[in-house]
Amino acid sequence: MQMLSARIHQYQRPLVVERVPKPSNVHGEAVLVRVGAAGLCHSDLHLINGEWKDAIPLALPKIPGHENAGWVEEIGNTVPEGLFSKGELVAIFGGWGCGICTFCKRGDEQLCVAPQWPGLSQRDGGYSEYILVPSYRFLVKVPKKGRLTPEELAPLTDAGLTPYRAVKKVTHMLGPGTNIAIVGMGGLGAYGIQYARLLAPHSTVIAVDRKDKKLSLAENFGADRTVNSATTRNIRDEVLELTDGRGIDVVVDTVGAENTIADSVRMLAKGGALVVVGLFGSQIKIPLLPAIVNEYQVIASLWGNYNELKEVIELASQRKIKHAYQSFSLKEINQAIDQLRQGQIIGRAVIVP
Ligand SMILES: [Zn+2]
Ligand SMILES: [Zn+2]
Repeated sequence: MQMLSARIHQYQRPLVVERVPKPSNVHGEAVLVRVGAAGLCHSDLHLINGEWKDAIPLALPKIPGHENAGWVEEIGNTVPEGLFSKGELVAIFGGWGCGICTFCKRGDEQLCVAPQWPGLSQRDGGYSEYILVPSYRFLVKVPKKGRLTPEELAPLTDAGLTPYRAVKKVTHMLGPGTNIAIVGMGGLGAYGIQYARLLAPHSTVIAVDRKDKKLSLAENFGADRTVNSATTRNIRDEVLELTDGRGIDVVVDTVGAENTIADSVRMLAKGGALVVVGLFGSQIKIPLLPAIVNEYQVIASLWGNYNELKEVIELASQRKIKHAYQSFSLKEINQAIDQLRQGQIIGRAVIVP
C-alpha cells in the first residue's frame, strides 16, 4: 500500500510530492492516523532550509509536519481496548517523549531528554496521507461539542499551544491595570492575542507587527491596541503613550528575531518579563544595566505539554478561540511554503492531504 507524501530530499530545495510506502507496522502502542490537516510552521522553513541540520540531523528523505490532526485508522494490539475507535477524530501531541525521564514524568514531554518530534526527528511527520504515531499516549481526544474540524485542530497542536504555555507562565503578573503585548501576528501571535485576552481579562492587550493587515486580524481577535513596528517613529515612546507611561508588564515575542527582541525589551515596564517563544534569530541580546536596574525577567518557553494541549482543545471546543487559516492541498505545499516565506499567510497555512 502506498500513500501520497511531501518529503525533503535535499535541503534548500522544494519538497518532493510523491507516493511512498504506507506504514504497515502498526503494532504495540502505535496508532496509524489518517491525516486530516497538518499546519505549516516557520520551524519547517528552518528545517527545509537546512539551518537545523546540525541540531536535528535527519536521514533524508524525510516527511516534515509536526502540527497534525486526523482520524484513527489502525490501532496497535496493546492500545487499551475501547480507548480509541477507528474513524475517531484526534489531535496529535507533538512532544513524543520517552515517558520515563524527569521532564516526561513531570508532564512536560516536549522537554524530554531524548525527544522524537514528528517531522523534526527521525520520525516522519504529517505532510502525508497517513502518519504513524508511536504511542496512543500522544493522541488527544476531541470533544464532540465544538464540532472542530481537522483544519482548526492541527494548528492548535503547536501554533495554538506554544503561546498558551507562554501566557500561562506569566498570568500571575497580569492583574488589573497591567499590560501585555504579543509581538508578531503570525500563526502563533493570532492565538497569543486570544490567550492574553482570555487569561488576563483585566490587562490591556497590545498587538505588535509590521503589517497592518495582520494587526487588524489581531483587533478582531481581541487586541485593545495595536502598534505597527515598521512605521512607528519610536516604539518605546508609542508604547509609553499607550500605557500612560507604564510600559508593558509582559511581552511575548513570537518572532524571536534580534530586532524584535530589542524592541520587546524597550517596551518593558519596570519589573517586566520578556517571554521568548519565536525561533527566528540566533541570540537573545539584552542591555545589561537596564535589565538589572529594572529587574527584567527573561523567560524561554518551548511548545506546550499534553495537558496544556487538552486545555487548548477544550477552549476551542467551547468556541472561545477563533481560527485563521488558509488551506492548501499536498500538491500545493511548495506554494504554501513560498507564501509563508514571503510573509503572505494570514494566520496558519494548513495542508489538507
Ligand atoms: Zn512549529
Ligand atoms: Zn523523556
